[in-house]
Amino acid sequence: MIQITMPLNFLGSVYREIRQALVDMEEMFDLLHQPAEIIDAPNAPDIHVTGGTVALKNVEFHYDPARPILKGVDLEVPAGKTMAIVGHSGSGKSTIGRLLFRFYDVTGGRFEIDGQDIREVTQESLHRAIGVVPQDTVLFNDTIRYNIGYGRDGATYDEIVAAAKQAQIHEFILGLPEGYETQVGERGLKLSGGEKQRVGIARTLLKDPPILLLDEATSALDTRTEKSILGALKLAGEGRTVITIAHRLSTIADSDEIVVLEAGVVVERGTHEALLKAGGHYAQMWSAQAEDREAAEGDDAAA
Ligand code: ADP
Ligand code: MG
Repeated sequence: MIQITMPLNFLGSVYREIRQALVDMEEMFDLLHQPAEIIDAPNAPDIHVTGGTVALKNVEFHYDPARPILKGVDLEVPAGKTMAIVGHSGSGKSTIGRLLFRFYDVTGGRFEIDGQDIREVTQESLHRAIGVVPQDTVLFNDTIRYNIGYGRDGATYDEIVAAAKQAQIHEFILGLPEGYETQVGERGLKLSGGEKQRVGIARTLLKDPPILLLDEATSALDTRTEKSILGALKLAGEGRTVITIAHRLSTIADSDEIVVLEAGVVVERGTHEALLKAGGHYAQMWSAQAEDREAAEGDDAAA
């Protein structure tokens, strides 16, 4: 009897491990919306990033031919500059990020990085060039060290610590029972939304990509936590081309350019000051959020 149950128990635990690994992978793929059909062009070269200029040239896109999502979008983010994309939910902002990562291909026009059509380079090199901080950073059921180190294969302990310091989470980690070896994730220590985002920022800093995409990276956080993380994000963006998708306009007001997307069309663009002066969509959104800003200031005063 023992001879039979022991191997079965053993197989049972291996099975559970494999199943969990598959669940973790599913979560990753779900997060990344990776469709299987995008393949590299034959003999595609790696992308050669010189400065990290990102350009959309008359980009059209639909998930379903009956419903166009992007209707001829022209944008250019010069190397090292920051662009914010704002607009109502469903206007196509995140879709632009998915196209940049080539989870889907454009259905019209071109998407370029430093003059290279992203369809003509290897996806592996494209993905290396872009760092993403999503709304919710997914943690693996592993140590915090692993979770940050995941940003780059072969990262050393010192590099992981340096990234954590820049993301302003090093002190917090040192305070954990087992420091960097503390287990986190669903089956370990549960981190708060703000702590998870800092892990995500550290992961991205370790990757050190020339292009950074922040898709609602602070939207799920309360305004106080958001404020404390904006500093780390700003630092993370230094020397990179940054595309920020944001809901709270106060977080993107200092962008080099702000673009307002409405139903897949760019309806306005300019600096915060210019757009306020223009008195259009952006100005309207800005005043619609005035109450939220005042409430946030009230919170700060009370704290
Ligand atoms: P935003 O980020 O501005 O809120 P998205 O780019 O996520 O908007 O979505 C734009 C539109 O595309 C929405 O109407 C959304 O429902 C639709 N959409 C997003 N992803 C898919 C998908 N995988 N399949 C079909 N429609 C989608
Ligand atoms: Mg979105």
